[in-house]
Amino acid sequence: MHTLDLIVPCYNEEEALPLFFSAVQDVLLQLANTKTRLIFVDDGSTDNTLSVLRALCGSHENACYISFSRNFGKEAAMLAGLRASTAEFVGILDADLQHSPQLLPEMLRALSEEGYDIAAARRETRTGEAKLKSGFSKLFYKIISRISDADIEAGAQDYRIMKRKVVNAILQVPEYNRFSKGIFSWVGFKTKWFPHENRARAAGKTKWSFWSLFSYAVDGIVNFSTAPLKISLLCGAICSVVGIAYALYIIVRTLIYGSDVPGYPSTICAILIIGGLILLSLGILGEYISRIYMEVKRRPHYIIDETDILPKDAEFGEDNASAARG
Ligand code: UDP
Ligand code: MG
Repeated sequence: MHTLDLIVPCYNEEEALPLFFSAVQDVLLQLANTKTRLIFVDDGSTDNTLSVLRALCGSHENACYISFSRNFGKEAAMLAGLRASTAEFVGILDADLQHSPQLLPEMLRALSEEGYDIAAARRETRTGEAKLKSGFSKLFYKIISRISDADIEAGAQDYRIMKRKVVNAILQVPEYNRFSKGIFSWVGFKTKWFPHENRARAAGKTKWSFWSLFSYAVDGIVNFSTAPLKISLLCGAICSVVGIAYALYIIVRTLIYGSDVPGYPSTICAILIIGGLILLSLGILGEYISRIYMEVKRRPHYIIDETDILPKDAEFGEDNASAARG
């Protein structure tokens, strides 16, 4: 008999949850040899998600929930679920049915029979997505796989099932700024990729705006690479060399031909270019410093307000052991 914990981050998913629950239950019935538990993480929803979860988990033995005191983001929700998980296999999937549960039996087989450590979904096509968004998305994966030390698979999704040892490895990464896609790939292990089509949401709407996607991309790059710092160093070095060469040229020219007044446009250009580069470098530096700042504060990743998981059932980690008891 295998055990499987499925983590479901939920933020304002009151409409999608009942649909999700019945779809998943149907699939779980097909898993004869596996005891499954659903761990819902309510990420500070402002709608009725929590009451829907209370009702669902109260009437089903194989479901439980954790509820945050406010919205801490999907990364924090996944972390809480991973910490609460105790099973041999642990999965993560979205509550909006964009991650089709029908893939679960096949994914489980990859772990239990084929010797893989991770079974993960990968988006092959981007049909149904805005051109601009998929363009930026592709550019992001191209950049990040070039410059970072975690080789992130293009189109990799959070939808996955992992063995216990992989979850333990992920939980050993203590950083505050969690870019899960990077952490998942950074820990390594043998992964089997499943092509997975982009489906429309069952209900409700996406929580991602263009700005939040941009800041997610910056997070990914800054958390897993120091290349931007090196690039700004290189730009600075090139500018300095050009500047010194130009100064020498002017000195020599002045010595030979004497001084002349013109040169105003080139001065303005130089000031603008150098000024821009300085600000850009400061901005890049700032991104790293702000992360160091958040990291040294050692704040908990999330605060649990309410849960029906007993602390003895789950290893909550230092963040929330006392919150869960209270
Ligand atoms: N989610 C969350 N906290 C957030 C935003 C989203 O737990 O702050 C959950 C959400 O309920 C869903 C999953 O993360 O189950 C993916 O979110 P969404 O569908 O909005 O993202 P998309 O599928 O558009 O990338
Ligand atoms: Mg979604």
